[in-house]
Amino acid sequence: MMDARQLCLGATDLNEHDDASIAPIVEGVLAGDRTVLARTITLIESSNLEHRRRAEMVLQELLPHTGGARRVGITGVPGVGKSTFIDQFGVDLTERGHQVAVLAVDPTSSRSGGSILGDKTRMARLAVDPAAFIRPSPAGRTLGGVTRATRETILVCEAAGFDVVLVETVGVGQSETVVADMVDFFLVLMLSGAGDDLQGIKKGVLELADMVVVNKADGDNVNRAKLAAADYRAALHLMSPASPTWSPPVLTCSALDDVGLDEIWGQIEVHREKMGATGELSARRADQQVRWMWSMLDERLRDDLRSLPAVTRRLGELERSVRDGERAATVAVDVVWDLYVRERQAGA
Ligand code: GDP
Repeated sequence: MMDARQLCLGATDLNEHDDASIAPIVEGVLAGDRTVLARTITLIESSNLEHRRRAEMVLQELLPHTGGARRVGITGVPGVGKSTFIDQFGVDLTERGHQVAVLAVDPTSSRSGGSILGDKTRMARLAVDPAAFIRPSPAGRTLGGVTRATRETILVCEAAGFDVVLVETVGVGQSETVVADMVDFFLVLMLSGAGDDLQGIKKGVLELADMVVVNKADGDNVNRAKLAAADYRAALHLMSPASPTWSPPVLTCSALDDVGLDEIWGQIEVHREKMGATGELSARRADQQVRWMWSMLDERLRDDLRSLPAVTRRLGELERSVRDGERAATVAVDVVWDLYVRERQAGA
């Protein structure tokens, strides 16, 4: 297990001038060395170009050793019990011999100055579990930046031997969609009470769910949780399932009392078996890679376009004229594109 000093190693601790072989990093990750793992993730999260370049070289070397984990996304509103759930679920898994990594995608961390997700104090037992590794959401990044770092961190954790990767998120903006698109299984935690107010939940999240779990099914809340589960079942029934092989089950659990968590893991395993047998699991991962490639390319092109003063100088005026109806949007796009192509051809 890492100590606090090791966890705090920042990008500045990485020797920028050390262009020596990346072999020790690759070897350290493959040996499951937590210090090297943490430093590699710091490289991945760094915005420094030299760090990024080294991170890419390391990733390329690690690639043959990736893909071995069950990648599970977990979402739910604040207070639903995500950290209680992940703490208990993670401990149950390490007791069975699994190695569990917990990552977080928190697009609000740049605003709040720190991530509320993946915080070790919220997962007290897992944080001191030698078979677990918890990494908070990188702060101060756009959702695109957090997404890239988290995807790459999943790969590094897999190369380091973690066979379960849990990615925690909250329903802010597109964060649920991006997490669902980087995992094999997307688990949506719900509360009862929302049961009689189904219209209050975001329908979109049900479309992403591979399983819905109503948490806090304990004490005098058990019946309410069962009723809520029946409502979610009915709502899911009305939707066409994403896969012919899998209809998302709706379960109840108590993360606090560790009730129902075994069955949840059992269903995740059944999903893996079924989707593995039909080839849908590898197809899902392959599609995710291609979508990821395109989203990175889109982002890079957009950044490049916005980096050219000749283009950015005109953007405000063009936007205004489109907003005021003086110029058709397509015409404005032509103007921007011409400027962009001309600048790039001029070797700007
Ligand atoms: P998060 O914001 O989604 O991470 O939620 P937390 O895990 O911090 O839980 C919010 C509150 O709900 C805490 O007071 C927990 O103790 C409580 N809680 C979480 N899971 C359960 C559960 O299964 N049953 C009950 N009764 N309370 C729970």
